[in-house]
This record gives sequence, structure tokens and C-alpha cells, in this order.
Amino acid sequence: MSALEIHQFEAFDDNYGYLIHDAEANVTASIDTPDTPKILAALEHTGWALTHILCTHHHFDHTGGNEELKAKFGCEVIGPRAEAAKIPALTRSLGEGDILEFGTRKARIFDVPGHTLGHIAYWFEEDKAAFVGDALFALGCGRVFEGTPPQMWASLQKLAALPPATNVYCAHEYTLGNAKFAVTVEPENDELMARAKEIELLRARGERTVPSTIEMELATNPFLRAGEPSLQRALGMEGAVLADIFTEVRKRKDNF
Ligand code: ZN
Ligand code: FE
Repeated sequence: MSALEIHQFEAFDDNYGYLIHDAEANVTASIDTPDTPKILAALEHTGWALTHILCTHHHFDHTGGNEELKAKFGCEVIGPRAEAAKIPALTRSLGEGDILEFGTRKARIFDVPGHTLGHIAYWFEEDKAAFVGDALFALGCGRVFEGTPPQMWASLQKLAALPPATNVYCAHEYTLGNAKFAVTVEPENDELMARAKEIELLRARGERTVPSTIEMELATNPFLRAGEPSLQRALGMEGAVLADIFTEVRKRKDNF
């Protein structure tokens, strides 16, 4: 059985597009549809024919190409059940606990509300890959637009519980800005300081910081670390309710 192939590319100013491909079954999905011309170029580059679109949430930079790509390829358009009415050209909706069969590969669906109320993530367990949209970012998390911070915290806990070696494919290159904020929240986290330096070097060379891994995020992402005594001390919130600590971190980032 062949492994899932993943082709990552830049889209718009700071989005990432992903094509995923199972060679054995000859199926190809676009994770979300930012920037249609970039997706078409990626299909041309890989020589893969689009059979699926897997949307994480309804925002335009994740669904804006659905209509055009569906018209062109007649592909399935899959998205979150809880916001099905907002996903253009949807053909199938999924939610928590569903298993998506993608050729010979399988993805488990998580509901990760907060950024939007219906946001979902796709976890390909055997391929050690999670496509998390705007829920979790490298060193950050999505702005809480539609849900509440405690709801976002609960969503992030689901992703934090994935195996440490899982690669985290998020939808934006926001890592440098996230790093600048993260070091203000937990300046005594050596691993974070080292990662922030590395990110600065990578971005200065125009290189990607995505994907990261769950292991890296657990060690350095302040939005996953509400339970860590070091972060609680830094915030002066020792022993506070974890969702409250997360809420405080999110509030600081919103005002950063
Ligand atoms: Zn979004
Ligand atoms: Fe986005």
C-alpha cells in the first residue's frame, strides 16, 4: 500500500494549499480551495487529476475555488456538516467521529469549533498527517470568530491528543508573527526561544515553517500549554482553570 503523497504550495499572501494523492487508487484532493489559479498550477505540476475537495471551514480563503473546481473536474466537495449551508458546491458533509475513505487511505474527522462553529480537521492516522485549517497554527491558533474561547480550548485539546509524531498541516504561514507573540508569554521556555530563532532564520530565507508536529507544538505553542506550570507562572495564573488560562493567552494575542 502506498503512502499518502502531499504537495504543499503557497497561495494568496500567506495561505498554504495542499494537494494530497493516493497513487494506488489514483485519487487526489485539494485541502480547501484557496486561490484557484495556484491549485490549477499545482495539479498541472503534479500531473494529478482532482477527485475531491476537503474543506475545513466556510471562510472564503478555504472555499472560494469550490464552484470553479467542481465545474471543471466534477469532483466530490466534502465539508463540515455543521456549516454545510455555507460551503459552496458541497456534495457530502462530515462531522465528529466520521471516517473518510480516500482511496486506500482513511481520515478521521474531528469537530474543532471556535474559529468558526462548524470547523473540522482531517486526521490521516496511518500517514501521520493532520489537516487542521485555521484551528491550530504553528505556534498559534485561529482567532475565535464564531465560538467561545473555552470551546476553542476544547477543540485544541483534541488535536493536542494526537500522536506526537503527527505532522500538522495548517492553512497559513503565520509562524513568525506567532513566534514574536509566544516569546512574550513564556520567555523562560528554552525550546520556544530556540524555535523562535530558527523560525526567524527560515522566514528570512523565504522558507516554510509548516508542517510542524504535535510534539513541537506541545513543547512550544502557548495556546496548547495552559496546563504547564511554567506558562501559568509566567501569566501569574497558577492553578487557574485551564480554559481561563487559554482565554487570557488568546486575549493577549488579539491585542498584541
Ligand atoms: Zn478562517
Ligand atoms: Fe484562513
